Amino acid sequence: MKKTTPTNNFGFNFHNSYAQLDKRLFTFLKPVKVKEPSVVLWNDSLAKELGLHFSESHDKTLAELFSGNRLPDNAQPLAQAYAGHQFGHFTMLGDGRAILLGEQITPDKKRYDIQFKGSGQTPYSRRGDGRATLYSMVREYLISEAMHHLHIPTSRSLAVVSTGEDVNRETVHPGAVLTRVMTSHIRVGTFEYIRHLQPELIEEFTQYVINRHFPELKESENPARELFEKVMHLQIELVVNWMRVGFIHGVMNTDNTAIPGETFDYGPCAFINAYHPRKVFSSIDHYGRYAFGNQPSIAQWNLGCFAVTLLPLIDEKEEEATEIAKEMLSGFEKLFSNQYFKMMCSKLGIENPEENDGMLVEELLNWMQQHEADYTNTFLAIENGSLFTQGSDAGIYGQESFINWYKRWEQRVDQNQGGMKQAKEIMQHYNPAFIPRNHLVEEALEAVSVHDNFQPIHKLMDILSKPYDRPDVLSSYQKPPAQGDSGYQTFCGT
Ligand code: AMP
Ligand code: MG
Repeated sequence: MKKTTPTNNFGFNFHNSYAQLDKRLFTFLKPVKVKEPSVVLWNDSLAKELGLHFSESHDKTLAELFSGNRLPDNAQPLAQAYAGHQFGHFTMLGDGRAILLGEQITPDKKRYDIQFKGSGQTPYSRRGDGRATLYSMVREYLISEAMHHLHIPTSRSLAVVSTGEDVNRETVHPGAVLTRVMTSHIRVGTFEYIRHLQPELIEEFTQYVINRHFPELKESENPARELFEKVMHLQIELVVNWMRVGFIHGVMNTDNTAIPGETFDYGPCAFINAYHPRKVFSSIDHYGRYAFGNQPSIAQWNLGCFAVTLLPLIDEKEEEATEIAKEMLSGFEKLFSNQYFKMMCSKLGIENPEENDGMLVEELLNWMQQHEADYTNTFLAIENGSLFTQGSDAGIYGQESFINWYKRWEQRVDQNQGGMKQAKEIMQHYNPAFIPRNHLVEEALEAVSVHDNFQPIHKLMDILSKPYDRPDVLSSYQKPPAQGDSGYQTFCGT
């Protein structure tokens, strides 16, 4: 007899460990159904990685499943409780418009949260409507996938489904649900929630996190200390990566700091064009707390909040625990500056960084800041000057100040074992040619949300899926906006 493979559950393979935890950490509830779901973006390669299969034409099924109107078998939807420091102030939060559908075990035995964003109100919604706009969910899909292709740890996006319902913001917008995939949604804010409201759960929860994300620490002498060190390393790696590509997260609150070290919450993020360490795009970041160059010190600040939650596990005596935590946290600066320095030297193609190279890096950054040079294109100009010295693009890279710096750089990379050739290979690996330029992102999003035209966004996503490719001539996707981006603003929670 011919064997048939079961297709009714589409490969959903949920093992829901969070649902087994203490009930004070979440609320079971289903997504609120939507009127008229329709798939607008679908990430087939991610679906395959997850072990999901929708081989035939399953558009209607996809729309039903990824709007939350129909639940797969074994889903145990729940909204997670958490707290967080937002712009430095402690607040109770929780999934106000998100629902964890379940934890998918992939064919290669990895575990991922599958979460809906924009799926309706929950007990944590406060005054919010629980919904999200098509504009912002498509934006998150585009940028999170771009980050993935830039080789930066990030939440992924599996689907955007429009709801057929209106969402009221400053104006009326079409609504949508995003399906977000992440190794977990456990945040510094989750630990803060427990420490403040359910302190008796901290030990059990920490153990859960270690088992789930850092099983190598299970046998360690002081797991809480080592957990802290791990999380600190992951945050440092993450922020160094952000600075490598010119990414500003924009809302580095502790509730948006993922314990497994992935970038997530793509509300007000943006990419810098002209380099400036104080660059800010978020409309609510009036004092530049989350400015480009402030990201390392904010990461350290957030880690300080994390350390506080672990104090009772670090040492029984509070004073001792505080001393140990302070010492661990003070290790941040050196670790960060070492990694940042190495990364910047790689952006310049230097094989074996030496102390003196710090000057070369710093002088270049100062020059960029002074001349409002494009961050991404400056490294490309160093790698391949001819791209920028033709016709109307001749511009600033022909200036004496740059040429003088460049000569010193040439001498420096001559010291690589493989000389200039090797430098260029290293640079290709570290410097993207294509980033999600803010103006291109906005143009593509406007086409979607105003004109229902998905062509520009598909084209842009295609370009951003190969960000390290080197085109022969400068493409329009590489250019900063002609008029600069000083008026560009981004927004939270839309
Ligand atoms: P975020 O700025 O996305 O990190 O969100 C901060 C908090 O506000 C989280 O608890 C969200 O769940 C909540 N939130 C954001 N937008 C909404 C909304 N439209 N309805 C309900 N809660 C929301
Ligand atoms: Mg958030």
